[in-house]
Amino acid sequence: MIITDTCYGVIPLRRKNGDQEQQQEWEILVIQHLKGEHWAFPKGHPEPNETALESAKRELHEETGLVIDTLLVEQPLTEHYNFENKRGDTINKSVHYFLAQVSGTLVLQAEEVKDSRWVPINDAHTLLTFDAAKNLLKSAIDALHQHSINDKMLDSFHANKHLIIDSHSHIHEDVDNLEFADIKLPLHCTWLMGTTVDDWTRVNRYGDRLGTRTIRCFGVHPWFVHLVHPPKELLDTNPEQDPTKMVSDTYPTVINTAWPDQLRQQLTQYPNAMVGEIGVDRVTKCRATGKNEQAEQWIVFDQLIKIAVEFNRLVSLHCVQLHGKLLDYFIALPIDQMPRKIALHTFSGKPSTVDSFAKMKTKGNRFYFGISFINLSSSKVYKMIKSIPDDRLLLESDQNTPLEAESSILDVVMAICKAKEWTVEQTITITRQNAIEFQA
Ligand SMILES: [Zn+2]
Repeated sequence: MIITDTCYGVIPLRRKNGDQEQQQEWEILVIQHLKGEHWAFPKGHPEPNETALESAKRELHEETGLVIDTLLVEQPLTEHYNFENKRGDTINKSVHYFLAQVSGTLVLQAEEVKDSRWVPINDAHTLLTFDAAKNLLKSAIDALHQHSINDKMLDSFHANKHLIIDSHSHIHEDVDNLEFADIKLPLHCTWLMGTTVDDWTRVNRYGDRLGTRTIRCFGVHPWFVHLVHPPKELLDTNPEQDPTKMVSDTYPTVINTAWPDQLRQQLTQYPNAMVGEIGVDRVTKCRATGKNEQAEQWIVFDQLIKIAVEFNRLVSLHCVQLHGKLLDYFIALPIDQMPRKIALHTFSGKPSTVDSFAKMKTKGNRFYFGISFINLSSSKVYKMIKSIPDDRLLLESDQNTPLEAESSILDVVMAICKAKEWTVEQTITITRQNAIEFQA
């Protein structure tokens, strides 16, 4: 018969000399169980209605008198082993250990614990009896190492976040948290991407309040192209009818045909404003027709590029699964009709596509590549980030609320650090310099 058995425990740690300094070595408490006389860590069976952590804390306290100060890793480390009991049953045992910094006076439980020793963590393997415990110790050392790296990275992020330039966001969509953005958002500057003519009003509301901490961007996003250039099927074919009215039952709206001049007005009023977010998208379906309306997207995109050139403005560009066509579009564009610089936002192409844009003849140095939290869902993201030239990489939150902007950027910073083997400070200062260069 196979019996599964689960226990919970703590791997107790303290700083040598009680010091809090990062450099100080960890010491680990190893106890000798009375039964069997083996050296291991405090552990035991849960009592009814106890959580894993509650059991672990209770067992630690009962066996050693110590208490947990800080949990160093949220998820416990698990040790598995099998043995046979006297009746010949196989016991399939799992022990989940919490890695924790502990304190208190060491009082050993006389009925269960024979002896104990605080030892430097790197020497503990010589004392531990079983291989399972030695393997657990290795995992604990790895986890501590990661913990100290993460801690230092987080500290560095908080020390440098005021320098961050968020090169693509929609935080202005959250009109209710404008106050939060003004007072609490620590970033140096956020580029606000307007996606529809109506959205430009929200961009301006944020721009007015946050001033130089924002760059206003005005565009028509490919998802909303039908508002300014509806697919034919949405138009009334009856010549008697007003041709600017759509007849779709599901999406009745007045077509805004004045948008190019409205855009020109915004760009005239705000000389630093960029053109964005604009682009092409092969996946997202038009809400009015339920189809992917690419023909209309390309027409509006081309108009927007022309206006960007007319005003000599920078462009933030959305492209989903159309990188090949986009590449062809820019290759074919005469150099004097090319926007000054183009940020390919939440860039989702392959490393070879990065190359194709960045090395495009006479135009390649105009392309920059933005990374946001959306990119992080792909396992290939590290390879892709690595392939982006260091001086073309941009950091973006792509968030639609200021409440999430900082944490989104933190995740992206961590990913860039991993991909580029940069420190947090390097990631922030390099992407900042790139954003400044982009605007130059
Ligand atoms: Zn966007």
